[in-house]
Amino acid sequence: MKYYQWVAGLALIGLLAGCHKAQPAVQSQTKPLLKAQRAIFAHSSSTNAGKRIHILMPQTANGKALVKAAPYQAAAAKALGKAKAAAAYVTFTGHPLQADYWQLTPSVQVYQVKNGTTKLVKKQALKPVNVNTKTAEILTAGSLLNTDAELQAVNYRALKQVADGKHLSADQLKQAQAITWLKNRQATNLTVSAKTLTIYPAANPLQIKAVDIPLTAISSYLSKWHQGQATVADAKQKLVALTFDDGPNPQTTPQILNTLAKFHVQATFFLLGEQVAQNPALSAQVAAGHEVGTHTYDHENIAALAPKAAVAEVDQSLATLYEATGKLPTLLRPPYGAMDKAHDAGVALPAIQWSIDSRDWTTTQVAPIVSRVTHATYPGSIILMHDIHPQSVAALPAIIKGLQAQGYRFVTVSQLLGTQLLPHEQYFGVGDHRPIE
Ligand code: ZN
Repeated sequence: MKYYQWVAGLALIGLLAGCHKAQPAVQSQTKPLLKAQRAIFAHSSSTNAGKRIHILMPQTANGKALVKAAPYQAAAAKALGKAKAAAAYVTFTGHPLQADYWQLTPSVQVYQVKNGTTKLVKKQALKPVNVNTKTAEILTAGSLLNTDAELQAVNYRALKQVADGKHLSADQLKQAQAITWLKNRQATNLTVSAKTLTIYPAANPLQIKAVDIPLTAISSYLSKWHQGQATVADAKQKLVALTFDDGPNPQTTPQILNTLAKFHVQATFFLLGEQVAQNPALSAQVAAGHEVGTHTYDHENIAALAPKAAVAEVDQSLATLYEATGKLPTLLRPPYGAMDKAHDAGVALPAIQWSIDSRDWTTTQVAPIVSRVTHATYPGSIILMHDIHPQSVAALPAIIKGLQAQGYRFVTVSQLLGTQLLPHEQYFGVGDHRPIE
């Protein structure tokens, strides 16, 4: 009883007399949601009977504790050490994140009574915790993301955020590719504000402590949080995406670029890593005016590779594209359209297939290529061509004119399908996508 009164008296001095600054902050910042509950824990210890710990436990509106007391009790006991005539307080300050989540920052303060006055002798901030103030659920990746594909997509955005425009060397990019961002949906190394998702990665040679991803860049992936998808093209709109594979080629690609420029058409190029390595300036020129995706490094059939080799093949092509253009692409066109579930598991990019095959590699004649494309195209189509054949170069003006005459407008794949596509999914056109099986 004596000890209880002493601790309670000390608490009263702390809270009412305002002899330290943390208490008013708790009161004003957390009052509406976090009713500070004065739970007094008489910490019994045979070696130091005078040790006292006081935790202002945050809780939900209906009294459920938002955090477990034990770790804070332990932290407070550690802070107290062997100090005599002292008490440790754990208090939480908080600020709202998103939805019902708040970030709570605990701190331990040790007070000592000396010559009849109470004095703050130690103050120590503890690791913040993100918690749902209605359900007491701790914020994890799984609080935001429903699937591992969404998790993989967010992790790839984190990598892009770190790499794009930063001129990382080949070695640095490799190190960045090896960073563990969100390990799984149980991961808690993240926080969310009104505008960004922040991930705190594991220790890494690049010494990246945190990466901020704008929510606008990943909103479609946060399916648990936001309902609905980012807007994509309406199937009724007469939009179509021209895509070119296997380049860049120093003879034919510049001619394709000239034609596209002449007609003010933007297209999507799926570049081969080995071609990019041989033609970096031309690759940068393609990327400056058009959307660029990867077509692997050397046109491997990904479905025929071992899963690890498949990832290495894609990563190598990404590194080459990054070196030439300064950006990591977000789209993959698998050679031959070949992809299967096992080999795709480690690949973080969506597979972009096609709905209209120009078959421009099967003939040297221009007329059948033009005719096939202009007759078969429907709204929302993705057209497959190759910027490495003279007949493709020759057919392009008539294809553009023919489709424009039918009222079609040309857009990039991302403009057609949106920028937040899912890995392990293959996209054939607007409203036509299926899981990779
Ligand atoms: Zn190809």
